[in-house]
Amino acid sequence: MKEDDITNEHVQVLIIGSGPAGYTAAIYAARAGLKPVLYTGAEPGGQLTITTDVENYPGYPEGVTGPQMMVEFQKQAERFDTDVRYGVVTDVDFSGWPHEVTIDGKKKMKADAVIISTGASAKWLGLADETRLNGQGVSACAVCDGFFFKGQDVAVVGAGDTAAEEASYLSKLANKVYMIVRRDEMRASKIMQQRVFNAKNIEILWNTETEGLIGENQVEGVAIVNNKTGEKRVLNTTGFFVAIGHKPNTEIFESVLDLDESGYIITKPGTSKTQIDGVFATGDAQDRIYRQAVTAAGSGCMGALDAERFLAQKEVELAEVTQ
Ligand code: NDP
Repeated sequence: MKEDDITNEHVQVLIIGSGPAGYTAAIYAARAGLKPVLYTGAEPGGQLTITTDVENYPGYPEGVTGPQMMVEFQKQAERFDTDVRYGVVTDVDFSGWPHEVTIDGKKKMKADAVIISTGASAKWLGLADETRLNGQGVSACAVCDGFFFKGQDVAVVGAGDTAAEEASYLSKLANKVYMIVRRDEMRASKIMQQRVFNAKNIEILWNTETEGLIGENQVEGVAIVNNKTGEKRVLNTTGFFVAIGHKPNTEIFESVLDLDESGYIITKPGTSKTQIDGVFATGDAQDRIYRQAVTAAGSGCMGALDAERFLAQKEVELAEVTQ
């Protein structure tokens, strides 16, 4: 019988999610002898599997593709006997201890510690061209992909802090940055707006929306329309950065954990601890600011170390009760 079919399964550490945070948590927990079980979620490998080249992850001097990097993360976790399973955690019950989770709406299992690494997803405009040219000029991460557009013209959609930050970052690399803003004002904080206004090579296109992208296999232009005048034009850009926000994948924790107004899990500062003992949150599911593979991995390590300490403490408490 496959282990996944065992009923009444009870594990020490259950990790939810298979991005850099989840696999790093698995590597640390497994090496600590905690025999972690990791459920990959619906998108095994997470956001990196839809990225092309990763050049800012230390240890890869020649760069690596996102999918390849995630294969290597998985291999490293499995080398120490992490039990990686394909499945989606669909429900959790953190009201007692051990904690209880439901996999794929049917299998229930118990876990002494749960490490949440469910990540976040970039929001997209919903254009067919975005999907068609994703990774071929379309990106949702300037820090990841901006370098590939050195000296070229690019466009950024959005008007919040993320868009302002992405546009400022890109302005240092690209020849010209167009910011496509759908209203006549920006939502970004004053200081971030000022940074955008001060950059000589950023042009803000107010009241502007994207109609589509030009290019067969690579972005060659962006078709835009002014929503006040109806005037249409094409921007000759090779990069199209969508920066209209991220959505943390935390729906199943809505009624059980403290989330901020955008849905990110709130952790105790400097730790991965949630308000529930034995439940830890790592990676983009709790990080609205940095959202990098390397910071997610670091936070996954914190989750495993916090879980290990929690389990050691529990063992001491249980030993005292039975004495
Ligand atoms: P926000 O939700 O703040 O902003 C999203 C932006 O995208 C808005 O300007 C919105 O326009 C625009 N937008 C949304 N949908 C569309 C669409 N379909 N077409 C065109 N434009 C669209 O998200 P952010 O990611 O910018 O920020 C999220 C949070 O993270 C904020 O609280 C922010 O302050 C914080 N943050 C902080 C940073 C920092 O401190 N360094 C860096 C990055 C984020 P509209 O305004 O018209 O609604």
